[in-house]
Amino acid sequence: MTIYFDNSATTPVRKEVVDAMITFLSESFGNPSSIHCMGRDSFKAVAKARQNVAKLLNCEPTEVYFTACGTNSNNSALLGRARFAEANNLGKHLITTVIEHPSVIGPSKFLEANGWKVTYLPVDKEGFIRKADLENAITTDTSIVSIMWANNEIGTVEPIEELSNLVKAKSVEYNKEIFFHSDAIQAAGKVRIDTKRCPVSALSLSGHKFYAPKGVGIMYLRKNTNVMPLFFGGGQEKGIIPGTEGLTNIVAIGEASRLAHAEFDQLETNLRQMQTYLIEKLSAINGIQITGTRDLQKRLPGHVSVAVENAEGEALVMQLDMQGVCVSSASACHKGIIEPSHVLSALQVPCNMLRGSLRISLGKFNTMDECKTAVAIFEKVFSSVPAKKEMVST
Ligand code: PLP
Repeated sequence: MTIYFDNSATTPVRKEVVDAMITFLSESFGNPSSIHCMGRDSFKAVAKARQNVAKLLNCEPTEVYFTACGTNSNNSALLGRARFAEANNLGKHLITTVIEHPSVIGPSKFLEANGWKVTYLPVDKEGFIRKADLENAITTDTSIVSIMWANNEIGTVEPIEELSNLVKAKSVEYNKEIFFHSDAIQAAGKVRIDTKRCPVSALSLSGHKFYAPKGVGIMYLRKNTNVMPLFFGGGQEKGIIPGTEGLTNIVAIGEASRLAHAEFDQLETNLRQMQTYLIEKLSAINGIQITGTRDLQKRLPGHVSVAVENAEGEALVMQLDMQGVCVSSASACHKGIIEPSHVLSALQVPCNMLRGSLRISLGKFNTMDECKTAVAIFEKVFSSVPAKKEMVST
């Protein structure tokens, strides 16, 4: 039996979601832009999905845009706003963080190569942005701030309400709208996201992180906030994300959003229970350090990350896989050299632990029994790591 503890990488598609999709594959398959009855049915299905997403985010359905994935949402928000900022002389300064996902770092580097100034905010040893650092970084030239809601590798949940309010206050002070984007891809369905409380301009979500299929995402864009398109086509999604709507995937992410909203408390309680157990058991093993914060109120429910002394993350993943446990590592082997992740490097994890990172991410279908079985396997695999091993340095 395989124990799947890699839900931050991707989740299975829920049965309810599959059931909702099936009708729209071969029965009610019309193009939502067609004006006949088949098209109208599809149009209604897209509208219903938009409403369900809006409930999850406490926003208006008109503020929800469907995209092809989380990466697409991050790029559309950042580069789309950058185009708008350039066209309107709003300033070419972007602030982001050193621990973002490559789908935020990538567009940031692209902008940097195209004449933008980019500030990468540091984090403390637990992975949190300091409010003062953000405040000091904002200048009259700043037009975009992008700070992830929750980190995929270490599970830290940034204080987005506080940070977005700070950016809003700076916007008032400088009499210009500073666009605040947050990559909420790991947070959706696990952390309450309330756009009425948090004055974010834009958010990114990805379906496959909360029980919808791969290949569908969401960009939330606050009313009256402008981004310019990166692609051009038939005008769908108000011309911002054009292309015939991925009907079945949109239906799926709508149903997944409805379920995430309805079952939020139950899921959080279950994930917290298993997470607390795993953190307690893993902390007791010699040579293991929990990375990220131990304050569960500031950590994604169900997310546990550790660094194993003198170990290589990918080798651990393979050994655990052979024992039937699927987890992931942020330290990857490139051309024979184990490279620590940019996130762990930013946390200043000790050198002898940097390459032995593991992420254990629980989901809706995991059980306490699985956690107990897995702990015995973790103990066995971790104890087989040689006490001191020659590590290849980079
Ligand atoms: N941002 C974060 C924080 C992620 O964890 C991921 C996926 O792992 C992405 C962005 C990219 O999302 P997608 O796989 O839908 O492109």
